[in-house]
Amino acid sequence: MQKDCVFCKIVSGEIPSEKVLETEHCIVIKDINPQAPVHLLVITKEHFDDITQVRDREIAADIIDAINEVAEKLNLRDFRVVNNRGRGAGQSVFHVHFHILAGRPFSWPPG
Ligand code: AMP
Repeated sequence: MQKDCVFCKIVSGEIPSEKVLETEHCIVIKDINPQAPVHLLVITKEHFDDITQVRDREIAADIIDAINEVAEKLNLRDFRVVNNRGRGAGQSVFHVHFHILAGRPFSWPPG
């Protein structure tokens, strides 16, 4: 738990969220500012500033499991998984998380 981290507060329940799934190491919540009809965030329970700090293979595997479980649960066929690392790449919350976006067409390359 890191002081003043919004996602640590969501994990602890101090800040409310719409949780759709929980695994051993992650929670999956609805993004507060959705960029697609489905916009979820896979958030690790443990605080890591960003993906470069996630070196534990059990946690890495749990993130993939959370993505696949929620895709199955919500019957998502086509979806995009995004991780922004660093301000220049668009990271605004410095607690590692993975966006799952679905429900509209997505162009490539992303902006
Ligand atoms: P990023 O810019 O990749 O760091 O993504 C951070 C995401 O967290 C954004 O899509 C925000 O809309 C989302 N977000 C920030 N605060 C909350 C919150 N309290 N509940 C749900 N999503 C949030």
